[in-house]
Amino acid sequence: MSTGEYNGLNHHQYIDKNNKFFDYFNFCDCVWCQLYGLPILNEIHLDEGKRYWFEITKNASSSIKDAYEGKIFRICSKDSYHPGNLYHEVRNDEIPIVVYSDPIDRFITLLNDYFSVMNFNSHSRFGEDIFEQLDYFQMTEEDKYNLLPGEKNEIISPEKRVEIIFDNFKSIKSIHSCHHFYPQTFFIDQKKFKHFELVERKDVSDRFKINGKKWIGSSTKSIQKDHFTEKQLDLVKKIYSEDYKFINKHT
Ligand SMILES: [Zn+2]
Repeated sequence: MSTGEYNGLNHHQYIDKNNKFFDYFNFCDCVWCQLYGLPILNEIHLDEGKRYWFEITKNASSSIKDAYEGKIFRICSKDSYHPGNLYHEVRNDEIPIVVYSDPIDRFITLLNDYFSVMNFNSHSRFGEDIFEQLDYFQMTEEDKYNLLPGEKNEIISPEKRVEIIFDNFKSIKSIHSCHHFYPQTFFIDQKKFKHFELVERKDVSDRFKINGKKWIGSSTKSIQKDHFTEKQLDLVKKIYSEDYKFINKHT
């Protein structure tokens, strides 16, 4: 995730704990949230000049930061921030860039990060821990030992994994960096700014002129949309309804 200066933001104050998202998911108080909080506005120097960009996890944020190393600066420095007056040096008629994904697609990507072998990373380990705690691995210690990292998750069918996850959203806790599941709108400041330039994740290479990145159909995902029931998809739409509103308003 981000590198940069501590922004001094108290995420307990900034994030609306009454948001209906928290009827389903936990508030995240992980080390990263304590250190950096949300939202994160970056100054980015594109060919067209200086712009501002709200960083949303899973929405190509690492690729953008890699491509613009030395030309991208987190602008909420500790000194410039105080509650209610975020990044006050930035004019409120600026039009920050926001890279967005379809909320269902983003949710599926997250489930694969946590609960599939695909792109095995620290998140897959979180998923294994969660299934382990829920006692879903019926196998011997030796069998477990012989599986490669992440493969434990794959012994459960995708449909079953999806079902377990929907029954246990609250098992994803701060220790698992549950802020990844936050709505995209939590990563954006709609109080200060009223206009945004929205870029769909698949268009990031073109908009940011990043060569060699293929965002469309770049991988075969273990958990796919057709593993969800209609009811589950409807719930995702409900949980992320603010994201749909934001996307519809600005595209
Ligand atoms: Zn967190």
